[in-house]
Amino acid sequence: MPEFCDVALPVPLDMAFTYSTDGEAAPVVGGRVLVPFRQQRMTGVVVELHDRKPSVPTKKILSVLDPTPVLDDHLLRLGRWIADYYLAPIGEVFRTMLPLAAEFKRVVGYRITDEGHMALHLAGMSGSSAHSQRSPEDQAAEFRVLDYLAARASDLEIDSGMNGDGAANRNTGTKGEDTAPASEGRSLVREETLRSATRISKSLLAGMVRKKWLAREDVSAPQDATRTVKVAQLKSAEGKLNDNQRILVETLAASGGTLEVEALQSLDAPRTTLNTLVRRGLVEILQQPADFTISRSRPRPTLFDFDLNPPQQSALARLREAVAARNFSGMLLHGVTGSGKTAVYLAGMRAVLEAGRSAILLVPEIGLTPAVAADLQEIFGDEVAILHSALSDRERAEQWHRIKRGEARMVVGTRSAVFAPVADLALIIVDEEHDSSYKQEETPRYHARDVAVMRAKMANATVVLGSATPSLESYFNAKKNKYALVELPDRVERRPLPEVEIVDMRLEFQETGHEQVISRKLAAEIKDRLERREQVMVLLNRRGYSPVVLCRTCGKKLECKNCAIALTHHKREHKMVCHYCGYTAPVPKVCVHCGSEYVYFLGTGSEKLEELLHGMFPQARIARLDRDTVRAHQDFERTLSALNEGELDILVGTQMIAKGHDIHGVTLVGVVGADVALGLPDFRAAERTFQLLTQVAGRAGRGQSPGKVILQTYFQDHYAVQYAAQHDFIGFYEKELQFRSWMHYPPYSALANVLVRSDNLDDALQWSGTLGKWFDATRHEGVRVLGPAAAPIMRLKRDYRYHFVLKSPSREKLNTTLRAMLAHAAQQKIPRTQVIVDVDALWLM
Ligand SMILES: [Zn+2]
Ligand SMILES: [Zn+2]
Repeated sequence: MPEFCDVALPVPLDMAFTYSTDGEAAPVVGGRVLVPFRQQRMTGVVVELHDRKPSVPTKKILSVLDPTPVLDDHLLRLGRWIADYYLAPIGEVFRTMLPLAAEFKRVVGYRITDEGHMALHLAGMSGSSAHSQRSPEDQAAEFRVLDYLAARASDLEIDSGMNGDGAANRNTGTKGEDTAPASEGRSLVREETLRSATRISKSLLAGMVRKKWLAREDVSAPQDATRTVKVAQLKSAEGKLNDNQRILVETLAASGGTLEVEALQSLDAPRTTLNTLVRRGLVEILQQPADFTISRSRPRPTLFDFDLNPPQQSALARLREAVAARNFSGMLLHGVTGSGKTAVYLAGMRAVLEAGRSAILLVPEIGLTPAVAADLQEIFGDEVAILHSALSDRERAEQWHRIKRGEARMVVGTRSAVFAPVADLALIIVDEEHDSSYKQEETPRYHARDVAVMRAKMANATVVLGSATPSLESYFNAKKNKYALVELPDRVERRPLPEVEIVDMRLEFQETGHEQVISRKLAAEIKDRLERREQVMVLLNRRGYSPVVLCRTCGKKLECKNCAIALTHHKREHKMVCHYCGYTAPVPKVCVHCGSEYVYFLGTGSEKLEELLHGMFPQARIARLDRDTVRAHQDFERTLSALNEGELDILVGTQMIAKGHDIHGVTLVGVVGADVALGLPDFRAAERTFQLLTQVAGRAGRGQSPGKVILQTYFQDHYAVQYAAQHDFIGFYEKELQFRSWMHYPPYSALANVLVRSDNLDDALQWSGTLGKWFDATRHEGVRVLGPAAAPIMRLKRDYRYHFVLKSPSREKLNTTLRAMLAHAAQQKIPRTQVIVDVDALWLM
């Protein structure tokens, strides 16, 4: 048994930490351990076992959580690659890869010390300490805490209740090393209990620990994450029953004597009735492990149809051939909107399942609705596991274990499903591979598409990237034969792509003398569709009512308190909202800067567009889809299914309406201001606009009647607009690649954004200056460094932000420079969390 183990912990430090292993259970590489770390307890992943004695004293691991690895060799290697490629701390990478947060419970408690008792005693004698610099309120709060702890019994029994089962319990009874021996026998009170009882602030509490009045103890421990439900069990039906009681007893009897409490409570009887039955001993309430359900929705009658047309068949054949070869291969499936890519994916996955191997299908965040889940279960039965953001921690852990045990070999999920612990991986499919929800915008800032490609390489598997509007990177790779390019050039059943008509809004303004939101042309086309009982979608990629409030007297805008961003007026909720940090403010009657009454609400968001359309077409049934109307997956699905059922005439919305759904009745798509992005200082603006326009246009004419798109724009000559209108993918890619090549942007160079942030402007300036000087002085050959410059959004969520953009034709040189930069930042005592390195950044804002 090696004496030491190196553990990767979820902390922002690029290293693993050495612990001694002497204990009863043996840690394994790739398994989790519980360890003490800076007065806390954490779970980490063992990355190495060895006998090299470190120069500094080591602490002992507290317990071994997994007798066998939770990350196998493949996933460990993949994690190391991510840490290296994205310059992310390895422990944070592993935490992201393991959705097992539910199996660990964070518990911190406090107890009063001898010094605390003394302080309480002295305060009782002298009233208050005269020389104290604390405010009387703070002192009062501190004594409330001391009083509370001196009088209270422990609400934290260390060895009971909160612990899970298994090996983990063994060491949890040992005292943390920061506990003063004098605290023995005194009660330990949970932080939440203490704070809610005494209303003490976190900082005062920390101050009391520093003064040694309190001892803080972290007793976090593993817990059993099994989901349970309450069930009622019928014990006896003897005796007199009133009507309500009879309803429950009969329902229970009819369902075999046991039923979920939740189901009983939905019956037409008061909630207290069940309690009465329990008291009388007729019914018993039990906790049972919850049954696993993927989706409560029923599968739709129109199941994915596997009757493939010739291009689909040949795409499927190439996919199956690649899988069978058991070597790495990449495929870019470029299929126009409505060409039936999904059917190819599902047929490919079914073939993998029949061969007894595993497949992962990644879908964008919005694509995984309960209805899709129900469809998938219909196709793959219990062999499918579904992972998405609406799952609770426990459900996520449960799914993960099903996959790990080999019960589910077909995995469908959003971004992090790329880490699903499947064995014998044959195929990874990335649907809508251009979608920005695949990029994680927090540490580790990985791109799931690129991780999918790497994972497939490591596993000798096939990766399929599918899209109607592939990213420039993927298309470029296909052009250079890194991926096979497979095209689905036609819509299914030879339906035509919609005709696109551009309306120049500058001309509209000149001719009507007004700034228009809905052009005369679009209004006429909508009217026409409503008369023909066809359906319309109108896209405006900006939510809220008015995006800007401007004072005509002083010329200032109403901005967020925390961000350099204009607040958006939300009319129905009657407030001003920051779309970046969520800050809200009252709707101003006068200018907050100068008091003038001449405040104007300018511009149009989706809420106002909906109102305008109601005004123009009072008879039409109109609904809106954006982040204000969609709080849950169900809301999204309810609206879409209403549209599908013909219960709606017009659907208004942000880019949410552009994504992937297949509604046959829509024959007209109006695009109102989807080109806003073209005005932003971002090299991906044209690509994003082209993708959005193409995707939303693709919603038109998917049924029997042909579709039409009215594209209103202020950038009518821009090539992104022109090529999208002509459905000319190749034309757009050629033009955009030329621009990228001239400007040394991806895919012609590797790019990273380095952001320096602080809520203190001086720190932000000083740190970015320090790094700027270092970049100048070191002159890394082959790496261009732009900056420091104020970030386009200079203040965000209270932080001031400066950034550097690094570009290099050599990824190795780029990463070497970044690594050296981080080392220098550490040396200069710039906190690691304040320097954000975003490799392959999607946003430079
Ligand atoms: Zn003003
Ligand atoms: Zn804000």
